[in-house]
Amino acid sequence: MEEQKKEESLKHLGEEEEEEEESVSESVRDLPSDAVKELLSEGVCARCIFRLFGLQGRVYASPPSISFLSSLSATTHQLCTLCFGILQFTYYSDDTQTLLQNQNLPLLIADTVKRHAYQFHTFSLEVSIPPIILNNDNSLRSYMKTKFGSQSWFQENLHTGCISTKDALKFSLIYPLEDLLECKSSMGNFRIRLTYTHTKASKGDQNRSDSAETCKRRKIGESNLVGEIPISNSLENDSSDGCEFLLEKANEPCHFTFFCYRTPFYFGGRYLKYSRNVSQTCWIIDDERMGEASVEEIIGGNILQACQGDGFKFHAAGREDIDVRMLGPGRPFLVEVQNARHIPSELFVKDVEKKINNMENKLVRVKNLKLVGSEGWDLMREGEAEKQKQYAALVWISRPLKDEDFQCISSHKDLKVLQRTPIRVLHRRSPLEREKIIHWMKIEAIAGSSQYFLLHLCTQAGTYIKEFVHGDLGRTYPSIGSILGCRAEILQLDVTDIKMECFLT
Ligand SMILES: [Zn+2]
Repeated sequence: MEEQKKEESLKHLGEEEEEEEESVSESVRDLPSDAVKELLSEGVCARCIFRLFGLQGRVYASPPSISFLSSLSATTHQLCTLCFGILQFTYYSDDTQTLLQNQNLPLLIADTVKRHAYQFHTFSLEVSIPPIILNNDNSLRSYMKTKFGSQSWFQENLHTGCISTKDALKFSLIYPLEDLLECKSSMGNFRIRLTYTHTKASKGDQNRSDSAETCKRRKIGESNLVGEIPISNSLENDSSDGCEFLLEKANEPCHFTFFCYRTPFYFGGRYLKYSRNVSQTCWIIDDERMGEASVEEIIGGNILQACQGDGFKFHAAGREDIDVRMLGPGRPFLVEVQNARHIPSELFVKDVEKKINNMENKLVRVKNLKLVGSEGWDLMREGEAEKQKQYAALVWISRPLKDEDFQCISSHKDLKVLQRTPIRVLHRRSPLEREKIIHWMKIEAIAGSSQYFLLHLCTQAGTYIKEFVHGDLGRTYPSIGSILGCRAEILQLDVTDIKMECFLT
């Protein structure tokens, strides 16, 4: 039953294709034969003729239509005078250093793409062609106007317009590629980039720089030295004398190279760091690694390996020192993976998260790992500017803790603190004085200890916490030491919360 249905729909599809093929060849047969012959004798290729008449779609990938048109001409031209072989699939291959003629380009591209083992559900073509080809198009259009302007088909063509070499190439490749790659073409993250270049400098480029020169001269004030320069290339306004074929002849085809790639994937989440010997990013001084690992390598490395990408970038919303743990809900981060071969599914992302969290050493953990859009980086940066951070610090003071200290510390709300750049970072940060806000703080006693306590505090982003505790030889004022009127030292610090209005919550 199912089989039968499938067969019927296949048959139906086949009929549709046949119908389409028929209407394609009809549209080719309908082209004005005198104009077609004229163009063929000028060495214009079949696909270029299609595009000059504004044809679109499958006709560019239809061998019968192409051979029908070519059969109208007695002479066969080697290289199209208009597209320099681009639409004939003739090119000089930069990869193999050979001249290739009438190649089965879609097959070549499909084979290469398959060899690279990308996972993809759609593909999109990116085409770059040399400016000399655009100039040829413009010259030919004015030639056509002079030659055929009075004919009715030309009047109609004015409305449909010509198809650019770039779009014609896409029409020529997309249909066969969809069959060969067994998926549809649409703007997705998997791209095939085709680059054509030509050694011959474009006359049009020369003209453009000439007119730029002229404008400059005019600005200086020597007006009326030269006449008006026609700057418009449009059919309607082009008044240049087009009797002469203005094509820039070239006997060399374009150089061609192509490659495929994936646009970056972004993974967002929050990380926790349980070790006081793990830096946020890979930290190497004089070939010696600081700490036993880094958050960047643990998270980024695992994601990269799972995606089979070429590389990754790690971005976090702020940072903590190597000896500070990151607890609570964690710190937001993004990992950008370049040129991934695998497409991460939701299940895949969960598996990566599990893998990181089940690592034996338990140095780092991730939460809420998910795929985010490329806007993730901006969102994170915006959120970072307005974030508040909470800490827990283990503090020692030079005298026993008194009852009134609890009240004294927690009475400070939105305390303004002046911080000169800390001595420990002066070698890499410029000396500045910044005002930061301590939103609130409180003391938690440690049973059986009179000179040690836990200090909980919530501060504005960018506050130096260690310095706020010990005062940094007076460079931070006020400080816990100055408020309590004694020496204060910080022994351990943890980040316990980062409040951020951000997608990574
Ligand atoms: Zn051509």
